[in-house]
Amino acid sequence: MFPIPLPMRAALDAAAAAAAREEVPVGAVIVRRGEIIATSANSPRSRHDPTAHAEMLAIRAAAGVIGDDRLTDCDLWVTLEPCAMCAGAIAHARIGRLYYGAGDLKGGAIEHGPRLFTQTTIHHRPEIYPGIAEGESAALLRTFFASRR
Ligand SMILES: [Zn+2]
Repeated sequence: MFPIPLPMRAALDAAAAAAAREEVPVGAVIVRRGEIIATSANSPRSRHDPTAHAEMLAIRAAAGVIGDDRLTDCDLWVTLEPCAMCAGAIAHARIGRLYYGAGDLKGGAIEHGPRLFTQTTIHHRPEIYPGIAEGESAALLRTFFASRR
């Protein structure tokens, strides 16, 4: 086992904090030139906003920080495989690299479902690195859903 990269550690911490607020625990971080510029957690329930996925919030925050709608030199780290909405936002934001933890059989759109970045019509395709701290990411989700049964 190799150590969990720092940005994924921060995303996992954000995910754990979301669970404490009764949100499905998913966390996301955006790194630009080696520096974390945005950290977000899944918050649709508390924000009454179905689009408030961790990735969407992180992309919005990062765009605000750098004052640009294109995050070309930014990498996104997220604990769960992004859904179709977030994958679309990743393309619009021109994210350079996507690192994610657990695969999402039901809601994922990278290696499951629509597999958005394999579509020939997609206008931007990040480099994709799945399975980073996959076990920890999945464990957070498992514990959360088990506690709600
Ligand atoms: Zn999403």
